[in-house]
Amino acid sequence: MKFKPPVSKNQELTATVTDLTYQGMGVVKVDGYTLFCDDALPGEEIRLHVLKVGKNYGYAKVIERLTTSKDRVESQGKAYSQTGIAPLQHLAYPAQLKFKQKQIQDLLKKAHLDDIEVAETIGMKDPFHYRNKAQVPVRGTKGDLKTGFFKRGSHNFLPLENFLIQDERIDEILKEVIKVLNAYELEPYDEERHSGMIRHLMVRIGHYSREAMVVIVTKNGRLPHDREIAEKIVAACPDVVSVMQNVNRDRTNVILGQKTKLLFGKDHIKDTLNGLEFEISAQSFYQVNPVQTEKLYQTAIRFANLTGEETAIDAYCGIGTISLSLAEKCRAVYGVEIVEAAIEDAKRNAELNELDNLRFEVGNAEDWMAKWKEKGIRPNVIMVDPPRKGLTESLIESATGMNPDRIVYVSCNPATLVRDIQSLMEKGYHVEGRIQPVDQFPQTEHVETVVLMSRNI
Ligand code: SAH
Repeated sequence: MKFKPPVSKNQELTATVTDLTYQGMGVVKVDGYTLFCDDALPGEEIRLHVLKVGKNYGYAKVIERLTTSKDRVESQGKAYSQTGIAPLQHLAYPAQLKFKQKQIQDLLKKAHLDDIEVAETIGMKDPFHYRNKAQVPVRGTKGDLKTGFFKRGSHNFLPLENFLIQDERIDEILKEVIKVLNAYELEPYDEERHSGMIRHLMVRIGHYSREAMVVIVTKNGRLPHDREIAEKIVAACPDVVSVMQNVNRDRTNVILGQKTKLLFGKDHIKDTLNGLEFEISAQSFYQVNPVQTEKLYQTAIRFANLTGEETAIDAYCGIGTISLSLAEKCRAVYGVEIVEAAIEDAKRNAELNELDNLRFEVGNAEDWMAKWKEKGIRPNVIMVDPPRKGLTESLIESATGMNPDRIVYVSCNPATLVRDIQSLMEKGYHVEGRIQPVDQFPQTEHVETVVLMSRNI
């Protein structure tokens, strides 16, 4: 018999929200059928309008809130939910921290790992304006360019000047850059026709150094009046020490292209983390919440339990931020990273901090792990901080094949983390102590986690 959903499109109904998804959407059950809706918190009774009915689940819109959750706070504006900049803005911050802890607990439970404990999420005092980096699309018309953001899951552009979670100075710099570009009557990128000029603006700022970098992402190699534009930007914003042009000719959602040109100043900015100095170039990964990154790294280093005698590997090392923190407390540190510019930064950063017990390699973490194993390197500690897709089986194979005492896993995706914990357990490792979530991304559903895994004796 064909399954017929118990609701139909455009139907209105009253229901109680029972849960919150990982994406921050309210969950309503109608005779076992799931409806998802924005801006709805567990416990709230709501009047709904059904928007879309699928085979297994559907979407609905809140038309009236009949009761209000005690965890609800006033939202800062619809735009931040619509664009996905701050999908959890309506949830009080302490409840956001609990929500993130529970996300990991739920995933562990599903994997029958309920006995692994998750500590309370480490939060921040002021959970707004924390980001040190902005990457915003530019649209509008020639002479009237606008910064903004795309509505979630679409290419509909919503103009915005206050981004809520970015360092406020970044918002100011963006406005000044737009003014300068408008004075030169430059065209915005037209996605549909794949024509025009200005695609995105990226601004990065050193949280402590206050040095800023502006990257103008263009569709074509030639940016008319490029030097003058750079000079005008620096004249308006003296804290901008670097103006770069990045060329991205492709029809793609990826923001940066391969080629970056220096237009003014130096090709990097400086910043400090836990007392160590770092140079960061345009293409390199650098954690976006500096206040929380310090806590994240302190946790990771504490978990590594170092005495000064250890050999450590930092896989996915970026510009060497964790590697250098390790090097202060280890005999030797090996780092690997796939982005060449990041490894150049990492090497410079080691020198800058007068640390000479590090070796950095450009390449795939998997390949290098296998090479180091072949060379007979015996790390006591392996630190991994992979992208969202997590670790591959072959990386786990060679990492555990080196028999480290401890593996410290820094993860930005609890789903792949739990999967990888299971694989590491099969290889003779166990979770030591509690898993520690750190809130790197307030107002969003994302959570960063640190886990210590020790070798079974
Ligand atoms: N530990 C660093 C970087 C973490 S982000 C920090 O905290 O700043 C993950 C890094 O892994 C990025 O720099 C990315 O470029 C790199 N990366 C992605 N895939 C990789 C792979 N297969 N091998 C090595 N590095 C990789």
